Amino acid sequence: MSWPELAELAADPLVTIGAHTVSHSMLAKLPPDTVRSEMDLSRSIIEAALGARPEHLSYPIGDSTSAGPREFAIAAELGFKTAVTTRPGVLFPSHSRHLTALPRISLNGEYQRLRYVRVLLSGSATAMWNGFRRLDAA
Ligand SMILES: [Zn+2]
Repeated sequence: MSWPELAELAADPLVTIGAHTVSHSMLAKLPPDTVRSEMDLSRSIIEAALGARPEHLSYPIGDSTSAGPREFAIAAELGFKTAVTTRPGVLFPSHSRHLTALPRISLNGEYQRLRYVRVLLSGSATAMWNGFRRLDAA
């Protein structure tokens, strides 16, 4: 998408534009100062282009080898209200204490049938995936 297309999208009250780093690297493999820079610079670039500072972050790749406790802490330090991993799961009240380590449901082309999406959003599939553990923020 172009910046003007993004600006049009961002103007919709149902849309939230978040940060996603500059280089799309596996953050857990980078030194902490680089991680801070990746998160903060991507937010600043979006703010400069769209006029609104992103308050939410999505970790590139987002699995446990790409984003872990250090990245969750840095995102919180930088003031992001929330950050999502790609660790599969649905939200539970205990996630309120881990807002920069949220799970998500991946809709990547393999689960596009509505009945699959309904099963994923019910939490039953991710409960089995996670061994019925609700929180995976370590
Ligand atoms: Zn990505």
